[in-house]
Amino acid sequence: MTQLSTGSSITFDHVSKVYPGATNPALDSLDLKVEAGELVCLVGPSGGGKTTALQLVNRLVDLTSGDIRIGDRSITDHSVIELRRTIGYAIQQSGLFPHYTVAENIATVPTILKWDRARIRERTAELLELVGLTPVDTWLSRYPAQLSGGQQQRVGIARALAADPPVMLMDEPFGALDPITRVAVQDEFLDIHRRVGKTTLFVTHDIDEAIKMADRIAILKPGGRLAQFDTPAEVLSAPADDFVAEFLGAERGLKRLALTTVGEVLTPERRDAAGADRAGTDWPVVEATMTLREALSLVSAAGAEGATVHESGSRLGEVSLHDLVTVPTPTGEGRKGVRS
Ligand code: ADP
Repeated sequence: MTQLSTGSSITFDHVSKVYPGATNPALDSLDLKVEAGELVCLVGPSGGGKTTALQLVNRLVDLTSGDIRIGDRSITDHSVIELRRTIGYAIQQSGLFPHYTVAENIATVPTILKWDRARIRERTAELLELVGLTPVDTWLSRYPAQLSGGQQQRVGIARALAADPPVMLMDEPFGALDPITRVAVQDEFLDIHRRVGKTTLFVTHDIDEAIKMADRIAILKPGGRLAQFDTPAEVLSAPADDFVAEFLGAERGLKRLALTTVGEVLTPERRDAAGADRAGTDWPVVEATMTLREALSLVSAAGAEGATVHESGSRLGEVSLHDLVTVPTPTGEGRKGVRS
């Protein structure tokens, strides 16, 4: 199993970028700190500067002004090559080398770092297990063209993690996947993130993906200005301005329901006790681990006024329609562990 590593923080300190010949900045005085081990999603409309922000970190794009630090070291203190070895980079379409096998793709950075063969073999096997490609021997000598899109993305993530970099940059990594594969790979990545705790800056234009994945969301607006930087629950319950509210869309309230599980609103009074057992009535059964949004959908489809809550096959209690639409106020803590 991969060693736990909490990574390093990424700090944007008054970062601006004006591309040559452009009149307006692509990024305007961005201040943002991704804490060690945190997963931050950068979202916003196209042209808002998300990719620019990411590519400034690994110096694919040069800073116009300000500074970016990984841990307490400026990115300009490293040579570009040294810097990029400390950063895992995963992009849309996986970016795998088509003429390299899976094993050779994953070994790219360890080979450059001159790891010995046994160590590379061991690390490759460990990573394939981590991203769910088992049995390992089945995958090692395949070429990217012999893999599905989801499998390629998993290999792309394994490659980015290969040399155990302190930070990961991900640019729309799941953008090209069909919706079902996308959910599976998102879940896989969240699981990996919980286990290895890698500091991750993740660009997506998909607000639902950000709500699901992020510890905190940074919303950029046109002109490369930071509109809000908060937990998903805070962004959804208290958008900083009209731009953010509009960006989140009319379903903002429903999206909020996807952040809380049924188990979390099951108050002691509603836990089994002597409560009237509704079994046999039209109340559907929902699992305690379901989100309020999923449970609401089931209750609505059944035309009922509440649901019986089960956990691992046993009845826990019941929730009313009112319970399902009454979301607790955010506590300011992250919302790890809840998935939509
Ligand atoms: P996003 O990722 O949010 O869509 P980008 O960072 O790609 O935004 O782009 C931000 C702004 O910078 C846009 O106006 C875009 O046209 C401009 N831009 C991006 N890359 C370049 C480049 N290499 N040269 C000139 N302008 C660029």
